[in-house]
Amino acid sequence: MQVDYLIIGQGLCGTWFSWYLTKENRSFIVIDKNEPMTPSKVSAGIINPVTGRRMVKVWMAEQILSFAHKAYTEIGNFLGIPAISQKNIIDFFPNPHQRQVFLERIEEGEEYLNSYPEQNQFNSFFNYDLGCGEIRHTYIAHLDLLLPAWRQQLKNNTQLREEDFDFENLVIKEQSIQYGNITAEKIIFCDGLSSFENPFFKALPFAPNKGEVLIVEIPGLPDRNIYKKGFLLAPLRAEDVFWLGSNYQWSFSDPEPHKEFYEQAERHLKAWLKIPFKILEHKAALRPATLERRPFVGLHPYQRNIGILNGMGTKGCSLAPYFASQLVDQLLRKKEITPEADIKRFQKILAR
Ligand SMILES: Cc1cc2nc3c(=O)[nH]c(=O)nc-3n(C[C@H](O)[C@H](O)[C@H](O)COP(=O)(O)OP(=O)(O)OC[C@H]3O[C@@H](n4cnc5c(N)ncnc54)[C@H](O)[C@@H]3O)c2cc1C
Repeated sequence: MQVDYLIIGQGLCGTWFSWYLTKENRSFIVIDKNEPMTPSKVSAGIINPVTGRRMVKVWMAEQILSFAHKAYTEIGNFLGIPAISQKNIIDFFPNPHQRQVFLERIEEGEEYLNSYPEQNQFNSFFNYDLGCGEIRHTYIAHLDLLLPAWRQQLKNNTQLREEDFDFENLVIKEQSIQYGNITAEKIIFCDGLSSFENPFFKALPFAPNKGEVLIVEIPGLPDRNIYKKGFLLAPLRAEDVFWLGSNYQWSFSDPEPHKEFYEQAERHLKAWLKIPFKILEHKAALRPATLERRPFVGLHPYQRNIGILNGMGTKGCSLAPYFASQLVDQLLRKKEITPEADIKRFQKILAR
């Protein structure tokens, strides 16, 4: 079988890359082993315009956020699903310092932050002595709908192979690659954590980061907003069901859910919520993060038929559509990739 591209992985990166190839009428096969616990499946899907304790704008906010909104709306319309919803974050200040930072950022003119006028609106649901603010232009990407719907679309078009990709069967030729009976012009790795072991890309400075979450039932809590106080509490599509997370662990013994997180998150929720809740699930996954917190996008500097789209870290929902589109533009029209994301910055490392 002859195709233009062989894509490894159908998480956020593989989904968006194959979407943009579809729009360009290019042929491809996706290989994905359908693991139950991947970062794309554990993610809340939150697209937040500000980050960190200083509430600064995320990297490339202007370009990336509006691009993401348009991209999810478009793929959602194509698949007939609601792929994205707009839900502002209500930020309950956890301490006086965070309150002060938030108000200072508003005075500095931060367009995404708003001093919430209805301070008492959430009194019957939450304990919050220090008031709250609002983070505007925030979205939830409904990955629990999008990823399976796109997978089904690929299956219907016989563009998906549900199996474990094995390097033993990969042959790199001068102008093409061969994998079993598939001949492709290029192979593009969108395989998240597996790239850490990938013989072509394992030298890249990946820095996996573990995150754990609870899925919680909270009858009666309004689902109009995402709520934040230390943890984020984000509505899922099922009625009264919320996602509570997450932590960021740079050092960990394994990728499994641990009882320490469960107990800490449960304690936190008991102190924060005034209404009853029930914990339904506890999940964990490793984020494919990078040391300099920028993605890895582009063709291998010395093997031009091998490429990568990875390293989305904590922001895969917003970064993946933007950089998938950039990668397709480079492949088809030789356009430049944003230099901070282009893997050609690691030319020396990848020469080894
Ligand atoms: C707890 C948690 C919460 C998060 N919340 C958010 C959030 O709210 N907003 C946000 O923007 N980001 C969030 N993220 C980050 C986001 O989930 C990631 O950046 C993103 O999912 C990475 O997508 P990916 O496609 O690169 O990787 P993955 O999701 O890992 O996808 C890779 C795919 O490749 C497949 N694969 C790997 N190796 C092979 C192989 N050998 N053969 C076949 N298939 C293979 C895997 O099975 C998988 O399906 C969160 C992450 C975690 C862990």
